[in-house]
Amino acid sequence: MEVAAEKGWSKVTETYYRRIFTENFNIGFRLPRTDTCKTCDEYTMQSKSLEAEEGEQRTKEWEDHKRKADSAFKLLRLETEKAAENPLAQHTICFDLQQAMPTPKLSSGPAFYKRKLWTYNLCVHDCGSKTAFMFMWPETVGGRGSSDIGSCLLKYFELADIASKTLVAFSDNCAGQNKNYNIMSLWLYLISTGKFTEIRHCFPISGHTMMPCDRDFGSIEQQLRKRQYVYTPKDYMDIVSQARVHKPFTVVEMTSSDFVSFDALSDLLVKRHKTNAGNNWNFTEVCQFRFSSEMPMSVEITFGFDDEEWQRVNLQRRGRPTRMSEVVLKQRYEGPRPVPKAKLDDVLSLLRFVPPVHHDFYRNVTADERQTCTLQNECEDVDQTTMLSLIWLKMESEKTTATGKRTTAAEKRKATKAIKKNPKKP
Ligand SMILES: [Zn+2]
Repeated sequence: MEVAAEKGWSKVTETYYRRIFTENFNIGFRLPRTDTCKTCDEYTMQSKSLEAEEGEQRTKEWEDHKRKADSAFKLLRLETEKAAENPLAQHTICFDLQQAMPTPKLSSGPAFYKRKLWTYNLCVHDCGSKTAFMFMWPETVGGRGSSDIGSCLLKYFELADIASKTLVAFSDNCAGQNKNYNIMSLWLYLISTGKFTEIRHCFPISGHTMMPCDRDFGSIEQQLRKRQYVYTPKDYMDIVSQARVHKPFTVVEMTSSDFVSFDALSDLLVKRHKTNAGNNWNFTEVCQFRFSSEMPMSVEITFGFDDEEWQRVNLQRRGRPTRMSEVVLKQRYEGPRPVPKAKLDDVLSLLRFVPPVHHDFYRNVTADERQTCTLQNECEDVDQTTMLSLIWLKMESEKTTATGKRTTAAEKRKATKAIKKNPKKP
């Protein structure tokens, strides 16, 4: 509410805001990258008000959490050193998806109130050589689910010059993108084809470990802030390829044929909730997965980052003797991915701010009449200004339906001015 008052936006009640927020934004938000850790924040808030006994328990839990975060950070450093010292012995990577980039990016006021297409960028950072591949594509070519991330990783292993048979990968804990059976089946596939003999996938504690991808994204965002206009995904690719002078990023444009479905692989696995020793285990609590050619259809799990005990889980589905390496990966998308009609209308209405030479890309986008433009898909992993504009858009559309009135042009101008005056730093 204070923000709205400060920025001169039209006001809504808190309950209304809350309803929009919970009904339309009911998805797991990831921590903003520069933000602090949720667990730590909660502890700091609660610790003062807790009774002595409960407080002691919480302090103990928090200390465990801090210890774990600390050892994850040390592990990343150690695995980076190992790969740098001997690339034949080990290849270490970090991978992460950058915040989605609005396309076109425009500075004209009215553009703030329109939905845009997204351009995605998956960074695979080679820790040993401190270089990075950036896999980029617009949402009309591919999505950003686990299969899309997996497809970029596959492409990376095809293109990168990797001398070692041991791979260590770090990524954040995001279940939708990085920590799931599709990515697990990718690791098992790479073992079964002989690309690697051992793979470890580690999930450092969010908000504590500064990952090298974050630094790479920092260089890109620094360049993006200098640009008032970015007209097409290709323009974004050019900016990214020039974002770093020393060891420039290798930009790879992902095309339709690069995106494959991992269903045929993950269908070979069974989701077992018990380890071979009969212990229950919880996917979200796992800190590291390990795969090896000595146990082709199993995973080993551990709940810490030090020399923890590894427990084996058999993933072989009974009666499915197919070898992973024999699976033919099918193309994931038949053709261009349509976008919701309302979104396409918004994007086309912005073409008057885009030089005609770039119109072809937008004219070729197709609409899917059945897809409604919910914000569910729109607001994850975007910068704060974009998020605010999306919330505003949603509220406006609700208001219009309720009152039949639209915000006046003057109101829009006023809000735009306010936003420009207080640009949110990502
Ligand atoms: Zn923490």
